[in-house]
Amino acid sequence: MDYDAQNVFAKILRGEIPCAKVYEDEAVLAFNDIAPQAPTHIVIIPKKARPCVAACDASDTEMLGRLQLAAVKIAAEKKLSAYRLVVNCGADAGQTVFHLHLHLLGGRPLTNVLG
Ligand code: 5GP
Repeated sequence: MDYDAQNVFAKILRGEIPCAKVYEDEAVLAFNDIAPQAPTHIVIIPKKARPCVAACDASDTEMLGRLQLAAVKIAAEKKLSAYRLVVNCGADAGQTVFHLHLHLLGGRPLTNVLG
């Protein structure tokens, strides 16, 4: 899949539209989801331009690890006792923004949504 540089997260990364930033380092940006599905709903994105996880390869190993470790760090800062990390890959899986991202959801009991 080609990367569309006009996607909304690319615009957030370029500062063209605002976000409620939660965390940033040299590889990762995290911000509150605009339509939260839980009391804590944070989107964690790489600064690397990748449309989805299926577009990643071995050169992205460190970046993928950094995304997850950023989620763990944010969850600890938010004092979440339990949380869920979600990655949608492809429109039929619910992906609507084609810049790779992790959803960090918490702050309420999360019922089973797998399948
Ligand atoms: P997906 O459905 O692609 O896995 O997740 C995309 C997420 O991005 C959705 O939860 C949606 O609410 C969020 N989102 C879409 N547009 C914006 C925006 O402009 N700002 C923020 N903060 N979140 C957005």
